[in-house]
Amino acid sequence: MIIKRIFAVYFPLVLVCVFFFQQHVYAENSSFKDVLPSHPNFDIIHEMQELGVINGYGDGTFRPQLSISRQHVALLLTRILPLEPIRGQKYFNDLPETNVYYDAIQQVQQAGIMDGDKNGNFNPTALLTRVQLAKVLHLAFDLEIKATYDFQDVPESHWGNSHVRALYSNGITTGDGGLFMPQGTVTRLHYAVFLHRLMNIDERFVALPIEKPKPTKPKPDALSPIYVEGILIASKNYPLPANYSPGENAEARKAFTEFNKHANKNGYNFTAFSTYRSYSYQEKLFEDYVKKDGLVEAARYSARAGESEHQSGLAFDVGLVGQSSKWFLETKASEWMGKNAHHYGFIVRYPKEKEKITGYIYEPWHLRYLGVDHAEKVYASGKTLEEYLGIE
Ligand SMILES: [Zn+2]
Repeated sequence: MIIKRIFAVYFPLVLVCVFFFQQHVYAENSSFKDVLPSHPNFDIIHEMQELGVINGYGDGTFRPQLSISRQHVALLLTRILPLEPIRGQKYFNDLPETNVYYDAIQQVQQAGIMDGDKNGNFNPTALLTRVQLAKVLHLAFDLEIKATYDFQDVPESHWGNSHVRALYSNGITTGDGGLFMPQGTVTRLHYAVFLHRLMNIDERFVALPIEKPKPTKPKPDALSPIYVEGILIASKNYPLPANYSPGENAEARKAFTEFNKHANKNGYNFTAFSTYRSYSYQEKLFEDYVKKDGLVEAARYSARAGESEHQSGLAFDVGLVGQSSKWFLETKASEWMGKNAHHYGFIVRYPKEKEKITGYIYEPWHLRYLGVDHAEKVYASGKTLEEYLGIE
């Protein structure tokens, strides 16, 4: 109750002050290049940025689909709530005073909102599950449980039941198809949306009974891929949702066929030996590589599930008919391909000596379809796709 009372007084002040002073600063730079006006949550993200609650990365992106860590959850709470200490300072083995999140974590710890594990660690970079976040938000905002409707996957016997009830009965969460998915991770986007709803809570909100889950399993992740300047991004920083499964892109296939006709006239006969790969296929593939070469080495040449461009259906691994991909490295054929594919809308996505930028070693066989306009421009610029779009 203490928090709630102070919150009521303090919060409108914060809103007014932060808004007033920071609006100017952010006005000229108040949108992220990966959250376009067409994004369903554009207004919320925009507003939360203007309020100074959320920040982007140095490259001007917000990276909505990255999972949020415990230290970030703590930091954002300290930006919007006056946290009254109800207990003393506590030292965590993995949290030196030099840690930039030290103060924020101490504040949430002393307010009784977050705590460490039984080994005395706070695990600042660990990810939070949805049910863990429900607990944090229930405590931080001192929410009243206004109805006792339950999601099927968080029944009354579940340790997090009261926390999820608190969120649902105040209109903070809707779940998905009758399920809450307590073990799901929380993305930066989800967290910003939850906080925005909490900051604009409707006291008169009346929750309706929760629908029964449909017999078909709901999608584990209903997010969509990230586009920058109309270009779909699939990389380590921009993973694709698990349920994104477009299959091989028909326009890219048509362009490849045209490209190969041109190649034939020049004495090369190419074949695309690997194009679309599903999330689950990539998951299995990466696991096998890790078994073979270890995690560090595998990550240099292969992608984790969600982080592969092949899941977009726009990446084509190309070799010569009758030859293996390994042979393809440093050949006349790959050189010719690198100099001509852009006329047909493809770029060599992972060029030589750009591993630090793209995250992958040189892959002369891996073409990415962008359409002729962008491919020509990227080729002429001599840049990687990341540099061309100004993202990391
Ligand atoms: Zn590839």
